[in-house]
Amino acid sequence: MKIAVFSTKPYDRQFFDAANQTYNYDLTFFETKLTQQTASLAQGFTTVCIFVNDEPDDITLEILARNGTRILALRCAGFNNVDLAKAAALDLQVVRVPAYSPYAVAEHTFGLILTLNRKIHRAHNRVREGNFALEGLLGYDLHNRTIGIIGTGRIGQIVAQIANGFGLEILAYDLHENADLTAIGVKYVPLDQLLTQSHIITLHCPLTPDSHHLIDDAAITNMKQGVMLVNTSRGGLIDTQAVIKGLKSEKIGALALDVYEQESDLFFEDLSDRIIQDDIFQRLTTFPNVLITAHQAFFTEDAMQNIAETTLANINDLDNDRICPNLVQLPATS
Ligand code: NAD
Repeated sequence: MKIAVFSTKPYDRQFFDAANQTYNYDLTFFETKLTQQTASLAQGFTTVCIFVNDEPDDITLEILARNGTRILALRCAGFNNVDLAKAAALDLQVVRVPAYSPYAVAEHTFGLILTLNRKIHRAHNRVREGNFALEGLLGYDLHNRTIGIIGTGRIGQIVAQIANGFGLEILAYDLHENADLTAIGVKYVPLDQLLTQSHIITLHCPLTPDSHHLIDDAAITNMKQGVMLVNTSRGGLIDTQAVIKGLKSEKIGALALDVYEQESDLFFEDLSDRIIQDDIFQRLTTFPNVLITAHQAFFTEDAMQNIAETTLANINDLDNDRICPNLVQLPATS
């Protein structure tokens, strides 16, 4: 089995090479993203392995299928970037890694919340410059404040458990209630009520046509003055222009992003010697109360190991005609 692995960094190779000791597949690592322009690199590879910012759109999938690819193996949970209807029409099998470490993302989420609330990012810079003043660093106790969690699946559930440890009141909004969470006092409420009552709002639902720009002007209008908004899910959940307006009016008191709508042009690359052309992103970086990490919430040893092992196990299931539990359900073809 020949597998083309796109968007790879040295750390991907390290974990995939280790997991591949079990399978001995013929892995070829490409640094480039999978796009319409690079798809022909996968000629003759039955399996193509991709990550969050690859671009398996209709034309890319056509090129892959024409050149012999049968399996698209996502080494991530979200599959919002894949043209699923096209994959179905081309009879491609799509697999993913639904859960590699909800702890990694949930813990990072709290890292962002604590940093923003106590201004640790600013304090760190000040102390390094010999400025030991506290003005501007005032935070609040998390204890007894209210956090609103949108999406209480694998990651949202761990976020709720951590929040519970801090003594936060927890409101949740999801299409399905999680009984383990109601048992620890999480209160499911309509979205509007969550937006109105939460001091901190954190997003953990997938990006779908329904959830695109879930946080827009209207949603922000409903929020508490000075709300903290955290997105470690997918950039498209937030209308970035609306959020910038909210930051300028000070309705939003703090913003943490690990994901960004246009991240595919920026994230995972060292662009420190280049001029960033994305003016919206650059505007975000000018606010003292905005904290951005470049899609690193998943990035722990445990998660990387699980991602590599599960991806190769998924491929192995399909290769051996076994039922793969991580197959993405494709729409029916007409
Ligand atoms: P999950 O499928 O276990 O849970 C998602 C939850 O969202 C489910 O309970 C679902 O019912 C709910 N949901 C779906 N649509 C909703 C909507 N419109 N409003 C409210 N709730 C809705 O997924 P998960 O493993 O918890 O992951 C959540 C998201 O986190 C993923 O979709 C992915 O985009 C993102 N993610 C980010 C990183 C990162 O590194 N930043 C890593 C992994 C996952």
